[in-house]
Amino acid sequence: MKDKQIEAIISNEEKRQAHNIELIASENYCSKDVMEAVGSCLTNKYAEGYPGKRYYGGCVNVDESESLAIQRACELFHAEHANVQPHCGSAANMAVYRAVLKQGDRLLGMSLDAGGHLTHGYKLSFSGNDYETFSYGVDKESEQIDYDEVERIALEVRPKLIVAGASAYARFIDYPRFKAIADKAGALLMVDMAHVAGLVAAGVHPSPVPYADFVTSTTHKTLRGPRGGLVLCREEYAKALDRAVFPGIQGGPLCHVIAGKAVCFYEAMQPEFIAYQKDVVNNAKVLMETLKDEGFRIVSGGTDNHMVLVDVKNSFGITGRKLEQKLDEVNITVNKNAIPYDEEKPAYTSGIRLGTPAMTTRGFKQEEFKEVGKIISLVAHNIDDEQSIVIAKRRVEQLMERFV
Ligand code: PLP
Repeated sequence: MKDKQIEAIISNEEKRQAHNIELIASENYCSKDVMEAVGSCLTNKYAEGYPGKRYYGGCVNVDESESLAIQRACELFHAEHANVQPHCGSAANMAVYRAVLKQGDRLLGMSLDAGGHLTHGYKLSFSGNDYETFSYGVDKESEQIDYDEVERIALEVRPKLIVAGASAYARFIDYPRFKAIADKAGALLMVDMAHVAGLVAAGVHPSPVPYADFVTSTTHKTLRGPRGGLVLCREEYAKALDRAVFPGIQGGPLCHVIAGKAVCFYEAMQPEFIAYQKDVVNNAKVLMETLKDEGFRIVSGGTDNHMVLVDVKNSFGITGRKLEQKLDEVNITVNKNAIPYDEEKPAYTSGIRLGTPAMTTRGFKQEEFKEVGKIISLVAHNIDDEQSIVIAKRRVEQLMERFV
């Protein structure tokens, strides 16, 4: 590369990704094939419009690639229609809102502090600006969604759209119940399955597709594809959705990323992908149990998916930020995360969020995740003890020796 500065930065990031234990629940390592597609000459192509109806010439190849991505997405998730153009998960959500809501219409989503995403109605996001938004949380005791409470709010507020799905929620979501609530309240239902899309594709997590009017997703989390967004819907909404994506909120699609999505959907149809997702879930259970045994309080008491939410404040009297920083020092990457009814500020938080997708891709099995849990425990128990940090870092190096 002629640009030596960027070359060095990429090389450093390659090393960081190779040597660190990556536990950010929304991250993964996509395959070389996905990277090849995303780094291909398709990045040079403009293709405003949709396959067969473009506003540019020379689209013969990108038409084929996008059609394949659409066809595979529909097959993988048993959906009637797919739009593979959203540049990211937030754009996918925006497109659905623009397809069915007018400015000022009512939207009901999960609150950010209970685990929802910014785009589910948070006041600083476009979603909280453009619509009149209401939120539901989780029960204070169980720390799980209280469906009776969601129903009560929905019947009181009468939103036009209910959003289910989350960024920091480790339990199954009852999609049939959400559908029943939406029907009762006269609302449409959108499920944002960004976090669990890979598990859904592999059949190790219930699918929202039969119940939701729209299902949105990212393609880069458990689904292990390129960074991007996806919307699935029933045929009756196809036209409104496609118009909302283009020309509604985007111009030219990222043809290289769409090809990467097609590769990702292909990979998700292979038998190995089911085995991988089963491991992701089993590994999360092992990590959760190990941490529980080591004295950590697990938010909601457990996990059904790829994620473990840990209350470090009430376990060790330290903030999520402090533990995140200390784990960074030993080359374990996590993110601080608010827990339900958190009294700490968002910049500090009482919790951390852990996920198993990335290290399961790297080959970690249950034994390695047990060791990860024990190293995290060593750091949390000895947060200001430099000697323990040195030992923890050495244990991370030993663990990673077999996987680099
Ligand atoms: N929806 C959920 C549930 C998410 O967790 C995220 C990202 O973390 C998004 C949407 C947004 O995706 P993106 O960051 O690609 O805009």
